[in-house]
Amino acid sequence: MTGWVPTTCMRCAVGCGHLQRGADLGNGVDSVRGDASHPTNRGLACQRGVSETADPAATFLSRPLVRRDGELVPTTWDVALGKVTEAMRVAHERDPDAVGVLGSGQQTNEAAYALGKAARGALGTRHYDANTTLCMASAVNAYYDAFGSDAPPCSYEDVPKAESHVVWGANPAVAHPVLFRWVTDSARDGELVVVDPVETESAEAADVHVQPEPGADLTLARAVLAHVVETGRVDEAFVEAHTEGFDDACADLPDAEAACEAAGVERADVEALASALDARTLLYWGMGVNQSTRGTATAGALIDLCLATGNLGEGTGPFSLTGQANSMGTRVCSSKGGWPGMCDYDDLDARARVAEAWGVDVARLPDDTGPGPVGMFEAVGDDIEVLWTVATNPAAGMPDAADAAERLDDVFLVAQDAFHTETVEHADVVLPAATWGESEGTTTNMERTVSRVRAVTDLPAGVRTDLDIIAAVANGVRPGTFERHPEPAAVFDEMTALTAGTPADCSGLSYDRLDDAGAVRWPAPDAETSVAYRYRDGDGWAFETQSGDARFSTGAPDDDLPEPTSESYPLTLTTGRESDGYNTGVRSRGGETAVPTVRANPADAADGDRVTVETRRGSVAAVVAADPAVPSGVLWLSIHHPATNRLTLPAVDPRSAEPNYKQCAARLVPRTDGADVPETSATRSTGEASD
Ligand code: SF4
Repeated sequence: MTGWVPTTCMRCAVGCGHLQRGADLGNGVDSVRGDASHPTNRGLACQRGVSETADPAATFLSRPLVRRDGELVPTTWDVALGKVTEAMRVAHERDPDAVGVLGSGQQTNEAAYALGKAARGALGTRHYDANTTLCMASAVNAYYDAFGSDAPPCSYEDVPKAESHVVWGANPAVAHPVLFRWVTDSARDGELVVVDPVETESAEAADVHVQPEPGADLTLARAVLAHVVETGRVDEAFVEAHTEGFDDACADLPDAEAACEAAGVERADVEALASALDARTLLYWGMGVNQSTRGTATAGALIDLCLATGNLGEGTGPFSLTGQANSMGTRVCSSKGGWPGMCDYDDLDARARVAEAWGVDVARLPDDTGPGPVGMFEAVGDDIEVLWTVATNPAAGMPDAADAAERLDDVFLVAQDAFHTETVEHADVVLPAATWGESEGTTTNMERTVSRVRAVTDLPAGVRTDLDIIAAVANGVRPGTFERHPEPAAVFDEMTALTAGTPADCSGLSYDRLDDAGAVRWPAPDAETSVAYRYRDGDGWAFETQSGDARFSTGAPDDDLPEPTSESYPLTLTTGRESDGYNTGVRSRGGETAVPTVRANPADAADGDRVTVETRRGSVAAVVAADPAVPSGVLWLSIHHPATNRLTLPAVDPRSAEPNYKQCAARLVPRTDGADVPETSATRSTGEASD
């Protein structure tokens, strides 16, 4: 066995330091544990992070594959890459946008940066996005609106300093166990308030649980602001000195009483939230807020609550909870929604700087960021002729996934992954990639801390690192884009140099510094600096907005749900995370996929009932788990089951392009067909809707 090698857990965005040991024989990670010397977690780790790193329940890909006569068959790297670059060159010659690229928050910073350089620079396509848009884009937009820049202003250092913790539309007890431990430790002397339609594990641990109707978060947030104003809780000195737009935000505030009724809560719930905000409060939110057609507006309304009550500064602030391990790194460096350093995509200076660094004509860079993943999939098989997926599984992860999967058969699909996923089933070429423990790089956690990812084992034969594969593909399309086998450290230096002087300045970071310090938070504009609380200017504030003040949201209309319940579909389907899963459950569910369990209130279905869950997009056979934690009228399915997204709604937030995963209309239909029906019986809807 090898010695213990320090690395960072890539299972969720808490970013715990791990120690890992390589296997005695062959390749592989033998054992994993928390790293007591890592500044983020000081030895803590959760079961998911340890077991899914050491022993993922998944089928590894070990050789390149190509499709011949309808079958995926093994081939050489030369043949596989030759087919990929030939298909991309032909499509690119017709139109750069004919090649689509979909990345992931599972990649290292180096691979994410390289993929952006390949997509925006070598290919010059606007059809480039990442699955991080599916979970964080609404928060990103809200941060830009409020502070002129992305990412939480606060950090983990503020958790023990907070007096109250408000967790809104998130279940960190399951999604972020180590962080939730810090939150509950801190709340022992304070208060924990959880806002969620479902009585989640986090809600069970809370002092107060507020249960709005699914989809009513914006209504509730505006009700709380109305109540804060009505009860004289506004921090007028802070609002006056450091913000703009407060009067406009308040101009169309709802009547608090009516808004409570619309959100399905009592006035006492709103008072409890306002009262929590009286103290030094961290306001966390997650996918329950972001994954909505109102995601940006709701995240903005939550930031408004912090601004109105002066909850900015030590122990306070808005704190979006990122899911995927390196979603933040994707935001900083992947050139997806902005240029490296979180520079505006339309910023001409940034475009010129990037084009020069990449050695391409600035005109080669696409003019806009593209339509988002859902919009991209509408173009798959139409404008998009070649699609390259990297460490992501859209056949299971996109909303209305059966439609997405069908479209994958209409393009030349290149699937780059460590594991055999549902998407791989549709591929024309499969590029087997290394996973954690097998490659070098860095990752950036949800509170901006960059930490090293290290290999503990040699690369398995037949497998290449993400960075190496991306460089080979990009060089095949545009020779000279990368070194032949780029070193991760050199790519990191190229990436951080591009962030110099930007809002997300990482230019003071290097592998040597990370090795010495264990991990360093950005902004890090020089070799010594690391900023914990952003936007501080002495005792005052200097936000990245034009005026230097923080901005209240513009109060987007609280319009109708995209798919309300109806006579034909009287129930609301929502989705959530289980403790052992991320990324469509690829690492946790193994080869066999059991019939999904649908949680429903005992008033709506009996335990063990065999049902189909139907929405306007399809139907899925399921078994009921009667559970009073789920409100009557609501159905709950795990986001990790590959059948779930056959049911979800592809409507997106108009600002963030994030899908409305958390709410759609559904019905339960009893099954009387004897044996359990396998997942593959999930069907497409006939499309008829009787209402
Ligand atoms: S909390 Fe997240 S980062 Fe930490 S060990 Fe668990 S899965 Fe890994």
